[in-house]
Amino acid sequence: MTSLPSGITLFERGWLSSNNILLEDDEQSLLVDSGYFSHSAQTISLVRAHLGERSLSRLVNTHLHSDHCGGNAALQQHYPELKIFVPPGNSQHVFSWDPVLLSYEPTGQNCPPYIAHGALDIGDSFVAANLRWDILAAPGHDPHSVMFFNQSHGILISADALWENGFGVVFPEIEGVDAFDEVESTLNFIQSLDARLVIPGHGSIFCEVDDALKRAYKRLNYFKEAPQKHALYAAKVLLKFKLLELQTCPTSIFKAWARNTSYLHLLQTKHWPSMSFDHWLNMLLEQLQSSNALAIEDEAIINK
Ligand SMILES: [Zn+2]
Repeated sequence: MTSLPSGITLFERGWLSSNNILLEDDEQSLLVDSGYFSHSAQTISLVRAHLGERSLSRLVNTHLHSDHCGGNAALQQHYPELKIFVPPGNSQHVFSWDPVLLSYEPTGQNCPPYIAHGALDIGDSFVAANLRWDILAAPGHDPHSVMFFNQSHGILISADALWENGFGVVFPEIEGVDAFDEVESTLNFIQSLDARLVIPGHGSIFCEVDDALKRAYKRLNYFKEAPQKHALYAAKVLLKFKLLELQTCPTSIFKAWARNTSYLHLLQTKHWPSMSFDHWLNMLLEQLQSSNALAIEDEAIINK
């Protein structure tokens, strides 16, 4: 059983929400990432159960995908003195709230607007849980993602740049922007850190960092050689993510949501141009059904 230094608590969440990491010392209580909006009540109760009467003073986001900052607004409402800091690359889109450029509209996901008090500085550091955390750039999964690294304990908060088994969907690739090389350079960078323990954006903490990196490189090479496989994976993740949110949905409404989700159209037109959108969507739903990720019963799609 791997243990974290005192002052660090991991709230390991299901896949719809990112993990949340609470860093506490005498000066402040700081949360890394806030999960998806539909889990906000659970996020608040996890934080409250831990902090008691103490207030949450700071929230930093590794990146601005809806599953990492969907609870920002609710936490801000619950803790009015909370200060939120976001990665610099798309902070302007938070300040002026642009749900298209922040990916919420094109992914068909939800993220309630919140007030950010500032942008994190790449190369800067902050102290939390009595430890110094360096703010590092981690482009690839998201061009503006950051990670936090504590050198003295070798702890890396990796977000979706490295999981125990792989890494997150490479979102720029959905938009037709080459980003597999960025994933690779971020993996190389992680390797150079010699981290001893990784707290990923999803899943459990792990210490076998070299093994995780090997699996991540293997997965990256698989995608590089066959970008359509990545596109298929990305499309299935978008569908499954929505179903995790809805749990059960009339098939016609789910398909209407998919038809309105521009990232799905980008994937289909680029990688399956000879198929109609509806035909392609049916193929994906059938594949998800055969892999037991969902069930289609009585005109409804059910999450499994
Ligand atoms: Zn993400």
